[in-house]
Amino acid sequence: MRDSHKHRQNVGFIGLGTMGTPMAMRIIAAGYPLTVYNRTPSRAQVLVDRGAVLARSPLELAQASDVVIVMVSDDVALDAVVSAETGILPAIRDGKALINMSTVSPGIVERLNSAVTARGGIFLDAPVSGSRIPAEQGTLVILCGGEQRHVDAYSALLLTMGKKILYAGNAGMGTRLKLTANLLLGGMMGILSEAYRFGTANGISPELLFEMIGAGPLSSPLYTLKAQNVLHRDFTPAFPLKHQYKDLNLILGAAEKLHIGLPLTQAAEALFGSAVDAGKGELDMSAVVIAGADRPAGS
Ligand code: NAP
Repeated sequence: MRDSHKHRQNVGFIGLGTMGTPMAMRIIAAGYPLTVYNRTPSRAQVLVDRGAVLARSPLELAQASDVVIVMVSDDVALDAVVSAETGILPAIRDGKALINMSTVSPGIVERLNSAVTARGGIFLDAPVSGSRIPAEQGTLVILCGGEQRHVDAYSALLLTMGKKILYAGNAGMGTRLKLTANLLLGGMMGILSEAYRFGTANGISPELLFEMIGAGPLSSPLYTLKAQNVLHRDFTPAFPLKHQYKDLNLILGAAEKLHIGLPLTQAAEALFGSAVDAGKGELDMSAVVIAGADRPAGS
């Protein structure tokens, strides 16, 4: 669909969490007619107040939409909104599109692609890089898999939420690129946790540690951003720790299928897992820095 047609394209959006709400806001602000669904309906009110229609089920939403976007937590949630009796799938027919933007396993994405295309529908996987603030500002980076012509057809819609689309290849490749990004993210936060533990045990203040990182070649926007969380002990979630833990598990599952070992990612997964066990799953993922520092000596 070209730009000139966008106002006639009925969009459905499922999953109004930390990311989904601001992303759906961007779509409605760009002038698309929007129907929304969320498992907990009260979270949809802010969008209904802006003119969105609230559907009673994913099926009802899909029946009212030309293109359905899903942004839910994980494989279980995606399966629930797609494959249940009142899920999206029965409404998929010729030319109707399903775009999954949740971070899930390559396996479920590839299964969904087969199910949707078998019904004559269009499937894209389009997970995102960037968290709540880029979602509010429409500056996410969208990692897209599917047929190139379909990515082109939905690029105007996708670019209401993002500043850039990276085309990764066939359906499933957007998800594989996203998991590669989150391997690096989990690893960078894991090793920061260890540098924090080592540095502070050596008498280096957290302030000096982050000043050193920012002053030289180790500097990165990620560390600059997350330094503020650590220094102010403010772990209001942008990217919840439990989702990064989920992604490290998805990565290790995909690596196992490819018969490749990822020992550093395994160590990061264990670190994030112990932070989840310590009750820090709902905090921002940067809380892992402190969780690592809190571990008893010798562990
Ligand atoms: P979130 O705030 O936890 O929201 C999760 C959404 O999924 C909610 O709408 C929730 O509905 C829904 N959901 C969960 N389980 C469900 C089920 N069984 N059936 C139906 N709906 C279900 O998550 P988020 O931070 O927005 O993240 C969404 C996705 O984007 C995740 O895959 C995450 O890894 C990925 N992501 C997140 C970020 C980030 O910075 N937050 C960045 C990039 C990618 P309820 O409201 O009813 O609970």
